[in-house]
Amino acid sequence: MDFDIQQIAAKFLLDPLFASYEKSNHIEQLEFYERSQYFPKEQVEQIQIDLLKKMLLHSYKHCPFYTKRFDAASFDPVKFQSFDDLQKLPVLTKSDIQNNLNELKASSYNQSELIENKTGGSTGSPLLFYHDRKRLFSRKASTYRHDRWTGWDIGYKSAYLWGHHRDFRSQLNWKSKIRAEFYDRKMVLDTSDITTEKMTTFVNELLSFNPFLYVAYANAMYLFARFIKENNIENYHRPEAIITSAELLTGEQRALIEEVFECKVYNRYGCRETSIVASECSMQKGMHISAETLFVELDKSAKSESAPAKIIITDLLNFGMPLIRYRIEDMGVAVEGDCDCGRELPRLDIAGGRVTDFLVTADSRVVSGAAMTIYFVATVAGIAQAQLIQKAKDELHLKIVKSKKFTTETEPEIEQNVKNFFGEKMKHTIEYVDSIPTTASGKYRFSISEIDVLEFLS
Ligand SMILES: [Zn+2]
Repeated sequence: MDFDIQQIAAKFLLDPLFASYEKSNHIEQLEFYERSQYFPKEQVEQIQIDLLKKMLLHSYKHCPFYTKRFDAASFDPVKFQSFDDLQKLPVLTKSDIQNNLNELKASSYNQSELIENKTGGSTGSPLLFYHDRKRLFSRKASTYRHDRWTGWDIGYKSAYLWGHHRDFRSQLNWKSKIRAEFYDRKMVLDTSDITTEKMTTFVNELLSFNPFLYVAYANAMYLFARFIKENNIENYHRPEAIITSAELLTGEQRALIEEVFECKVYNRYGCRETSIVASECSMQKGMHISAETLFVELDKSAKSESAPAKIIITDLLNFGMPLIRYRIEDMGVAVEGDCDCGRELPRLDIAGGRVTDFLVTADSRVVSGAAMTIYFVATVAGIAQAQLIQKAKDELHLKIVKSKKFTTETEPEIEQNVKNFFGEKMKHTIEYVDSIPTTASGKYRFSISEIDVLEFLS
């Protein structure tokens, strides 16, 4: 599909509601990212080195937190030359941010130039952070770039099957509400709790709205696909493409979603702090990192190259509140080789999800909690939903929502599965519940580990 900047710019100018400086700004960024995604690898790396240098000098000069941190590490940003030099700096943790918020903000920005945002912190309390206004444009542009990889374009309709309606509502003033509905042509379906009644409504609303693209929490999309298939619904909407985000997408989930909706699933990974981190192209072989906006490292202290490692991110463009070597609690693996799509942006695979989502078997194997939970639900007919909670190395607690097919046979089947998947020595307790609520951010957690899983990763 051709990207005609003139045509898009004209569209904005014609529409008085959106002829604001903000719009032209992110379109300019988008135009650049459309070109830079095909730059040779060396050119992208040079952009990263240049931006890193600028960010390091800026942070040292304007953020008291980094002045102290660089000095303590005997790190001189003036001498910065290569990615390896960054290793001298310690990682930035969520608690670093929680404890040093004011010292992380750049003194060269007024508070009014910063946009406040929030995510889940390490202790369950929210993590507050800021980004400057300019960063908003590049965040938006990198999202648009990925949306366009699916064939979608500005002006096309999309439906968001999203965990928390509040995610949108709280940010929306009347202007942006109008923009969401009439300009962005976006429909939001709240999936924070999914009931049969709600899914029936989704079927009808999607049919009448007829969007090109769905953007959805992976688990919500999967549950919706299952609902359509298990209830033999024939008259439902099929979009041209689906983007899944915010949660781990397993191979089984992807296969079912693609089968039911007869289109490709493009997975993507991001976090509130930095926006899109990496996203899949139509090759579906790993996610291309948004390398012009972020420098992504995999923690070198991991025990081997192929083992999942903690993801460390430096935001190359948030000068308002720099995040340098920020360690988010997700695990990734680098994908080697060229991608057939022609983009030379490096690729990443998310390994099983968040650190706390991994479970450990009785014989010390670390397994993806999400994948295990899906096997459970898929292999036992009487389970509608499950959540596995690891209390100790040899103790699992299972929260189970019964399905209509639950019989006296079901519980022995569950017990057999615990033995098969986690080993004979795994003790367990079962609790039957009416529903498994999503977390405060609207995500559904397949599994929760209450032990230190990293100890078992090798
Ligand atoms: Zn590709």
